[in-house]
Amino acid sequence: MNLVAFSIRTKGAHNFVRRLRTVFTRFGFSERRTRRALYSIIDALKSCRSAPTFFIPAVVLHRHPGLINDIVRAGAEVGVHGYVHNDYRYLSEREQQAQTQQAVSVFKAVRIPYRGFRNPYLGWTEESLRVFTTCGFAYESNQAVLHDIIDIDALSPIIRSGYEKSMALFQATTCTTYALRPHFEGELLRIPISIPDDEMLFDRLRITEPDEVGSIWSTILQRVYTHGGLYTLNLHPERGILCREALGVLLSTAQSFPLSVWIARLEDIAQWWSERRSFEWHISPLEPHRWLVRATCTPRATLLSRHLAVEYARTQAWHAPDEVILVQRFTVQAEICPCLGLSSRTPQEVVDFLHEQGYPVQTYSSEDSSSFALSIDMPEGLGATREERAQKCSELVERIESLDAPLLRFGCWPDGRRAALSVTGDIDSVTIQDFFLRILEVH
Ligand SMILES: [Zn+2]
Repeated sequence: MNLVAFSIRTKGAHNFVRRLRTVFTRFGFSERRTRRALYSIIDALKSCRSAPTFFIPAVVLHRHPGLINDIVRAGAEVGVHGYVHNDYRYLSEREQQAQTQQAVSVFKAVRIPYRGFRNPYLGWTEESLRVFTTCGFAYESNQAVLHDIIDIDALSPIIRSGYEKSMALFQATTCTTYALRPHFEGELLRIPISIPDDEMLFDRLRITEPDEVGSIWSTILQRVYTHGGLYTLNLHPERGILCREALGVLLSTAQSFPLSVWIARLEDIAQWWSERRSFEWHISPLEPHRWLVRATCTPRATLLSRHLAVEYARTQAWHAPDEVILVQRFTVQAEICPCLGLSSRTPQEVVDFLHEQGYPVQTYSSEDSSSFALSIDMPEGLGATREERAQKCSELVERIESLDAPLLRFGCWPDGRRAALSVTGDIDSVTIQDFFLRILEVH
């Protein structure tokens, strides 16, 4: 299917005509406009000592290696956005593999380091995850989490239909504390991305007022902060200038919370999750109601405790009821052991899942099941399908996070931060020529 047919199907004919008009205002025949837009995002993040992550199709990179090298030198991360701008859901595993390899070769040839992959249209499949792993990607960023901030019933029929088309296209999941955390599948880290993105707001919902866009993004960040998760903003650089003010509003919101929000590139987040993966808790009883605790972790780790008397250690207030413990070896006093108890018939996948989430786990025998912060008996495991698994993991994390009992755990983010924000964007085209070449390339 070519781009015109694809766009009409996903956007509707009416929106496609509007789209053609915006192409001529946002892109030029030279790189100038896109360069300006990219640097506007880079400069905004520089003021918060951070940088953005961009994704680019390899054929577009091949035509603009100088520009992309410049933004990498300016601190931006660049990841792979396919070989051409096509939807992997229409490709076999073999085709996905071939195109991903082709893309990787272009990145290597122009010497752009890459760690991550984001699919055009967020169109990932189970096969894609295998392909990304075999091609050596550290992470992918495709799983869309929908922030329910738009009142769909208040939309006109034509706008509502465009919005619903894009939601279906992005196969979005609902927002939960668990959905806002990256997670590993094998060696591949899956970093969630948030929607609605800028394209949905601007071109489908026609929300273009900088204040309004900034306020929507800030509302999403506020919710993500409450969950302690990650907000991956998708801001296509073609709207970089249009969104300059809105991005400013979001970044000041990010710096206004009582606990700090980590503003980072996706590759830094991937690096952190890989570091955090090896952290472990060792909790041994000293006497009744008193334990020796040792955390094996790096100095960046965020050690959290709730409802515990921590002895011989400096602590700091954090998001209630948790506090941060500033040393890695200490003793605690509590009525019950500050970890999760697992029945011996609960399978290893649950243990691994809880470990990845940062919770200490011990196996209990039937007589001491009540001496833990929470006793978990899940002989059925996490479920057979992806949907079931997501639901069970979400429910479990929700239950643990809301526990009113003594508990130790590793925070999701380094250095005591409460939440994370990553500003990302797909460079689908740099020039008007790129935009129209897509039609030929996708063929
Ligand atoms: Zn794209």
